[in-house]
Order: sequence, then C-alpha cells, then structure tokens
Amino acid sequence: MEADIYRFEVGTFKCMAVSDGTLTYAPPTFPPPAMFLFANAPREHLEQVLRRHGIQAEQWLEWVSPYICLVVNTGQHLVLVDTGADGLAPSTGRLLENLHKAGIAPEDIDTVVLTHGHPDHIGGTTDTRGRPAFPNARHIMWKDEWDFWTSEQAELKLDEHGKEVLLKAARDNLPPIEGQLDLIDHDTEVVPGVSAVAAPGHTPGHMAVAVSSLGQQLLCLSDTVLHPIHMEQPQWHAAVDFAPAQVVTTRRRLLDRATAEKALVLAFHFPFPGLGHVAPRGEAWRWQPIE
Ligand SMILES: [Zn+2]
Repeated sequence: MEADIYRFEVGTFKCMAVSDGTLTYAPPTFPPPAMFLFANAPREHLEQVLRRHGIQAEQWLEWVSPYICLVVNTGQHLVLVDTGADGLAPSTGRLLENLHKAGIAPEDIDTVVLTHGHPDHIGGTTDTRGRPAFPNARHIMWKDEWDFWTSEQAELKLDEHGKEVLLKAARDNLPPIEGQLDLIDHDTEVVPGVSAVAAPGHTPGHMAVAVSSLGQQLLCLSDTVLHPIHMEQPQWHAAVDFAPAQVVTTRRRLLDRATAEKALVLAFHFPFPGLGHVAPRGEAWRWQPIE
C-alpha cells in the first residue's frame, strides 16, 4: 500500500484518502495533548480512558496528527474535500505531490469542498503566488463559515495566537477564490452523489460531506471528531472547538447517522487512512478502523 494514498470504492465512485502530511501538536505552541483534545474531561475519568488506550496521561507529550484529504471521482466529477496545510510546517503541504503521484493534476479537480476555514483544511487552496491552486474548480463553503473568516467576527473572537495563525491562513487563502465560490446555507447536493451536511460547532459553519453511490455511503466527518476517544466520550470537546455544546449535538447526530447507514467513515485527523466504521456502545460509539 502506498503510505500517502489509499484507494477505495463507494458504489461506482473511485475514492482516495490522500495525506497532506502530519503536524505535531505539543507545548509551547499547543496545550499538552490530553488538555488540547479533551479540554473539559474530568481528570480521573480521562486518565482511566487513556489508560484503556495504552496512553499514560503524564507521558503524553505530543500528538502527531495526520491531515487526510479526500478525492472522489464520480465518473462525472472530480471532487476534492479540503486542501491541507501548505505552508503551516515543513511536515505538511504534501497534497499536490501526492495527487500528482496518483495521476491527478490541480486543473483536473472541478469541485473543491472546504469543510471549514482552519489552516489545515484551507492551507492548500492557493499557490505560493496567492492564486487559486485548483484553477478550474468551483469551491464550496458554508456561508456562516465564509462570513466568520472574512468579516470582523474572527478578529473579535480569536486570541492573539488564533489571529496570528488562523486568521492569517484565512486571509491568504479565502479572498483569492471568491470568484469561483458557491456559498451554501443548508444541506446541499454539491454534485450528484456528493452532499454537504451541516455540522456546526468545531467552527461556526463547519460541514461534513456525505458520499453515496449504489446504496453505499461514505460520511466524511472532517473535525466533528479529532481523536477516536471523541466517539467513546462525545461530551469531551477540544480546546479549539468554537461552540462546545453544538459540537456534542453535531457529533451525536452524525455518529447516529453513520451507524444507521452502516456508512464508511473518514476522519481527517485519525491515523492514516482515517477510514473505518462506528459501532454503537451504550450511549456512545466505538471506532473500528478498516483492516
Ligand atoms: Zn482540522
């Protein structure tokens, strides 16, 4: 298996999970992983759950997170979901090189879905000269998300670090695509078989993407969950979640949907290729990565 590209099918659609690289989340830039990922978890319960996953909380000093984009070839359309984090760190920004390995040129992509405006999801939207990296693509974003990052809202809500990193990425990457942008404000079929699904909470207009062909389903959760433990403990939110209560509601709705549809699930930050199924367990779920 190529380590950066994982091919699979959803009905007649040919899909690929494509790595953009990884980023190491660690102090001093980020809080320690347990606090970053599970900001509101009661300490003792958290330590117990981590131990079950073979993690000693005290010794968990860095979280190495994959960044996983999705390509869907429907036969009619070539859709890219998220553009990775070009320019964020030397270990990120591999998307174009990996697409090239898979025989895909940027000009071939006709639809780019941006699940939200964080730098790891929109960082490859423009090239080094600030032009759209996917020149022939219609770009889709939730209206609330676009408005948040391109108005004074983000400026008002973010702390200094947020302004420096998040707002900068948004200002570099979003205005250049305005001429090839479609904003949506309700669940919408973007191209036949690929739909945008409201999933607010992580950011104001965060979205999931549902892919459907011949009765088979793929649900791309993006950052609805950042770590498999969020499926077991859906009430534990991350320090970066914009609206924690909404994150929990969105998680429950989408994980219920994934279970009901027996959907294959893609999670952007899970171990590569980020694909698996969710099984109900009590009031929550359990992650079952593909073999
Ligand atoms: Zn992310």
